[in-house]
Amino acid sequence: MFYRLLFNSTTYLTILLALVAIVGDYIVYHTKLHFFQALFDNTTHALIGALSWFMVCLHFKSSSAFYTLLEVAACAFVASLIDLDHFVAARSLNFEDATNLKQRPPLHCSTFPLVICLPLLMLSYVLYLPSLKRSILIVLTAFVSHHTRDATRRGFWLYPYGSTPPIPYGIYVLITCMIPHLIRLLYTMLKKNDISVSYDF
Ligand SMILES: [Zn+2]
Repeated sequence: MFYRLLFNSTTYLTILLALVAIVGDYIVYHTKLHFFQALFDNTTHALIGALSWFMVCLHFKSSSAFYTLLEVAACAFVASLIDLDHFVAARSLNFEDATNLKQRPPLHCSTFPLVICLPLLMLSYVLYLPSLKRSILIVLTAFVSHHTRDATRRGFWLYPYGSTPPIPYGIYVLITCMIPHLIRLLYTMLKKNDISVSYDF
C-alpha cells in the first residue's frame, strides 16, 4: 500500500499541483509591476487547470494523445479566460481599472458553473452523451480550480447567498490538490458504458 502510493504517478502530480499553486503565488507576490503580476497570476490559473485535467486524463483516457493535449489546453484556456471578465466589467483594457472593481465580475460567481454544469452533466448521463460529459467536466475543473484560488482573497461568491469569508491558504492548497480526485470521482459516478480507449503516452 505504502509502496503503491510512493511509486504512483498521481501522487507525484498531486505534489506538483501543490508546488505550482504555491510557487505561482510566491512569484505573483514578489512581482512589482502590475502587468507582470496579472500575467503570472493568470499563468498560474492556467497551469493549475491544465495539470488538474491531465490528472483526470490519466484515469479516463481520451481517444488519442493528441486529444488529451487538446483537452488539457482547453482546460488551461478556460481557467485563464475567466479573468477576462474583469476587463469586460471594467469596460477598460487598463489593468488598474480591471483589478480595482467595486463588484466581482459575473464569471467569478460560483453559482454559475454549478447551475449550468451540474444539470448538463445529468443530461449527458441520461442521454448517454460522453463527449458532452467530458467537455462539461473540463469546464467545471477550470472554474472550480480558478474560483478556489481566488477564494483566498475574496471567498466563494455564492449568489444569491453572498460570499463566504476568504479561505485559509492551507485549505486552498488542500482543495486544489483534491479537485482532480473529486472530478475523477464525479466522472466515475457518471460513467455508463463509456468506451475507453487505451494508449501509451
Ligand atoms: Zn479570477
